[in-house]
Amino acid sequence: MREKVLRADGPTGSGRVVSYPLGDGRRLFLIRTYCPDRIGPGPTNLYLIEDEALVLVDTGLPTDMAKQFFYFWRRQPIPHGIEALPDDFSERELTSALALTGHRIEEIDAIVLTHGHMDHYLLGRKIVAQSNARVAAHVSDTVMICNPWGMARFMAERWPVLMAMGMPPPAHRRTPEAQRQVLRIDLSLRVDEPIAADGPLTVGDAVFPRLTVRHFAGHSPGGICLLVDSENGAGRRMLCGDTLLYPITPHPDDLVAYLRTLKAMKALKDISLTLPAHGKAIRRLPERLEAIEQHHERRLRLTYEACRRPRSIWQIATMTGYFDVLVEPTQFNPLAGQEAWVHAELLYLVGGLRRTHIREGVHYFENSGETFAAVYERVRELINDEQSTLLTRR
Ligand SMILES: [Zn+2]
Repeated sequence: MREKVLRADGPTGSGRVVSYPLGDGRRLFLIRTYCPDRIGPGPTNLYLIEDEALVLVDTGLPTDMAKQFFYFWRRQPIPHGIEALPDDFSERELTSALALTGHRIEEIDAIVLTHGHMDHYLLGRKIVAQSNARVAAHVSDTVMICNPWGMARFMAERWPVLMAMGMPPPAHRRTPEAQRQVLRIDLSLRVDEPIAADGPLTVGDAVFPRLTVRHFAGHSPGGICLLVDSENGAGRRMLCGDTLLYPITPHPDDLVAYLRTLKAMKALKDISLTLPAHGKAIRRLPERLEAIEQHHERRLRLTYEACRRPRSIWQIATMTGYFDVLVEPTQFNPLAGQEAWVHAELLYLVGGLRRTHIREGVHYFENSGETFAAVYERVRELINDEQSTLLTRR
C-alpha cells in the first residue's frame, strides 16, 4: 500500500524514483529530472501511470535547453558543474528511471501536459520521436506549446509591460546576433489531443475512467490537474502540475483566476496525496491551500502598504522583505516583476490602487488610503462571487 523509493536523488537534486501502488497491479511512479533551481523552479517531477495504457504526465526539459534558457533568461553565467552535465542528462535520467519501473520510452502511449511551460513539455519531442505517444494538453495552453517561436512571442508580448514596471533592461552578455539565434530556437511540441472540458481523460478512442482531468487556471491559462483513482484503499492522488507547490509557492499569471482555483480546490474532499511538478508531495491539502492563500494576502498587503506614496511595480518588487531573497534592483528579473505586478493588478481591479502618473514610460501607483482590511474585503468578494459586479462597477 505504501510508496517505495526505487532511487534517491543525486548531486543535481534529481534522479529520484518512487513507486505508489494503485491496486490491481497498477502503479504510479514519480520520476524527478534535472531542471535548475535558484535560477529556475528546480527539478521537474514527471509521473508515469500504468493504466489501460502507459501514460506519462509532463516530460521535463532537455538539459541543453535548461543551460540555454534559464541562464540566458537571467543573464547569468552557467555554473561549472551544470556546464559539465551532458546535454541529454535529463533524458538519461528518464530512461534509467523507466528501466527501474520495468518500462521503456518506446512503450509510452500518451503524454498529458499539466500546462504549457517548457520545463514541462520540451523533452516531449524526443519521447514522441521514440514512442509515437499522443500528446494531450488543455486548449488554452496549446498556443504556447505549439508555437515554434514561443520565446520570441513571450518577449514581444511581455517586453512593454516589463518596461512599464520600471525594470532595468537586461545587460546583454551575448551579441545581438546570438540573442536573435536563441529567440529563433523552435520550442514547439505538437499537441494531438485537445483537453477542453473536465472529466475522464480521453486520448484518441481510449477513455480512462480512473484518470480525471480538472481545469485549474491561474498559474497558466490552461493548467490542469489529473486525479488518479486507486483500487486498494489508498485514495485519490492529485497530480497538480505547478498549480500547487511545496515548499515554494507557484507564480500566478492571473491572480484572480489563481485565487478562484484555490477556492475551488477546497471543495476537493477525497484527495489522499497531492503530487506537484516541483518539490515535495503535499500530504495535507487543506492546510497547503490555506497557507498559499495567506501568502498572497500578505503579499497584497505589502503591495498595498508600499503604495502609501506613488510606487512603480519594480520599486515594490525590490523592497526588502517582499520576496524571501532580495531581488537585485539593477538586474532584469521578469518573474519577480510579474509577481509584484499580478498583486498590484488585483488591488487596482478592486479600487485599492490608482495610477498617479507615467514618467519616462514607467507607471506609478498609489493606494486609496483605506485600511487594507477594507480593500481585502473587496478582493474576497471578487474571488468568492463569480458574478461580482466589482469589475463592471469601475
Ligand atoms: Zn514548472
